[in-house]
Amino acid sequence: MLDRCLGARRVRQVHRFFRHAKVTCLCLIMTIVVLRGTIGAGKFGTPEQDFYEIREHFVHRKRAEPHRVLKEVDTTSDSTNLNNYATFDISKIAVDEEPDDFKRDPNTPYTLGPKISNWDEQRGNWLKENPNFPNFLGPNKPRVLLVTGSSPKPCENPVGDHYLLKSIKNKIDYCRLHAIEMFYNMALLDAEMAGFWAKLPLIRKLLLSHPEVEFLWWMDSDAMFTDMAFEVPWERYKDYNFVMHGWSEMIYDEKNWIGLNTGSFLLRNCQWSLDMLDTWAPMGPKGKTRIEAGKLLTKELKDRPIFEADDQSAMVYILATQKEKWADKVYLENGYYLHGYWGILVDRYEEMIENYMPGLGDHRWPLVTHFVGCKPCGKFGDYPVERCLKQMDRAFNFGDNQILQMYGFTHKTLASRRVNRIRNETSNPLEVKDELGLLHPAFKAVKVSSSS
Ligand code: UDP
Ligand code: MN
Repeated sequence: MLDRCLGARRVRQVHRFFRHAKVTCLCLIMTIVVLRGTIGAGKFGTPEQDFYEIREHFVHRKRAEPHRVLKEVDTTSDSTNLNNYATFDISKIAVDEEPDDFKRDPNTPYTLGPKISNWDEQRGNWLKENPNFPNFLGPNKPRVLLVTGSSPKPCENPVGDHYLLKSIKNKIDYCRLHAIEMFYNMALLDAEMAGFWAKLPLIRKLLLSHPEVEFLWWMDSDAMFTDMAFEVPWERYKDYNFVMHGWSEMIYDEKNWIGLNTGSFLLRNCQWSLDMLDTWAPMGPKGKTRIEAGKLLTKELKDRPIFEADDQSAMVYILATQKEKWADKVYLENGYYLHGYWGILVDRYEEMIENYMPGLGDHRWPLVTHFVGCKPCGKFGDYPVERCLKQMDRAFNFGDNQILQMYGFTHKTLASRRVNRIRNETSNPLEVKDELGLLHPAFKAVKVSSSS
């Protein structure tokens, strides 16, 4: 059977060869006719030169210097290679540049910048002087800036950048629907604070540069929105400055390093937050400081593996050891998934679709699915790559379905890139009502004014 199939395929290939040969011959004849016509019309010089110039003209369009023409003939295969992205070695242009000339004196303690102690006053004055940039879009709708980012270099594996693209597309969709502004950072603002610490100098810079922003929402690049309809309950946080997903017993009683997650959190633009950033930063500088701090954190925190200091452990440590100073302004959210650990969510997406609707944000339809430990942009993660990538696709499609459905499409399955139509085109497009009511720009206005 297999042989028969192979035989039939060969016959088809022979047929196809002759069909192609016919078309090629026809093209050749046509070209000669055209060439003769052009040469006859005296548009070009000698027949030989004419041929090269015409070839040049068609292949390279604008380039026609005669002295180059002969050279080009010999280097055709070379230039084909030069034009080939698939064979180009990216390390040729993405060379590692020399590190910064500026070196901090290791005996001086690290700071994020000059001490600021009257930010509330400075910002308050600015807001008064700039009524066109209000920090609230409605009484319970603060102006929010969602901040995320990734390394300035391409990912260390060939598909990593594709997943970063999916992840930013996902965030753009959510932010567009909820009138949230976005900032994507790819610059390492402070070489000492590379990796998971890079967010700290960035956040401080953005708070100070955008007094109009009331809440900054940090979200890791490996976290995706899986509930496009859920609006953050902003009113709940009116007396708080820092909102993280977490559990108070795990932090204050157990000192558990996973008592909270710093992959998705809200930080109010105020003096308190600047002070918190100053307290948070000292374990961050890479090298000896970060390594030694890592040892302390592993010793002091429950179940923490041995590794250099990370921003999440440092935050648990600060809250657990300085509870009186900070706890009253920290809201530990676990009523919905401001951060949702992917391991417990991704296998339940079909069950969620079966039983619930977007807009719930919790275990029934999680707001965020965060691929902690997958490291999709790195060389090695803490989980099998196949599971991570497959589940990132599913999370993306789960969220993307809520977008596509507004436009009358849906992914064939959560595993599929392809889409199906879910309703017929209509000649009255404005009468189409999407189930979630997210489609029309009025949604934003409704959200803003409903809270007023
Ligand atoms: N990140 C960044 N610049 C870098 C490296 C990382 O902005 O050079 C950000 C990126 O958004 C990433 C986050 O830091 O998602 C934290 O790292 P990761 O998500 O890998 O840590 P995990 O959530 O797995 O603990
Ligand atoms: Mn992450």
